[in-house]
Amino acid sequence: MKSKNTDAFTRLTDALKVLPNVGPKSAQRMAYDLLQHHRTGAEELVSALQQALLQVHHCRLCNTFCEGEMCALCADQTRDSKRLMIVHMPVDVASMEAAHCHDGLYFVLMGQVSPAQGMDLSHIALDKLVARLQNHAVEEIIIATNFTAEGDATAYVLAQLLKDFPGKVTRLARGMPLGGELEYVDAGTLAQAVYERRKITDN
Ligand SMILES: [Zn+2]
Repeated sequence: MKSKNTDAFTRLTDALKVLPNVGPKSAQRMAYDLLQHHRTGAEELVSALQQALLQVHHCRLCNTFCEGEMCALCADQTRDSKRLMIVHMPVDVASMEAAHCHDGLYFVLMGQVSPAQGMDLSHIALDKLVARLQNHAVEEIIIATNFTAEGDATAYVLAQLLKDFPGKVTRLARGMPLGGELEYVDAGTLAQAVYERRKITDN
């Protein structure tokens, strides 16, 4: 937190530590570098960050990041609204779209459940998902979480949550590499995993 006694350089390095995998040493290096070599770039960074904070919000329907109330995918009337694919992050939507294997809609959890951190559910958007399903008719839910310990835990939590869902609940086939994160899987493998998805509830 900013304190009146903190000098500008310390405040900057402290602020940079908010970035993933950036500890005190890297924060200090970044700060030196920005101030020494990239002052114009640093100004652009400040301005872009301010604009993004003001304009980028979560889509009302799918929870991904977008500007405005609804993202372009949710607004697209040609998509099959009866099939909803649940993914961890916006980057997974991009991977699926690049693989051209899903013409339905998405729901983005914005995180995953971690068994190592006590299966805490507070940081994934389960309430919003439930509301989404109550307000819009869906016939199939495709769970497209990663094939990692976290992805499996998230899929388990979703399967429990959806056990009374009247439609079909499926999960991507295990054609994916073990420990595979969707983000790093090639489009062909990803498409195959979607086509060979399997039912995980009895409905
Ligand atoms: Zn959306």
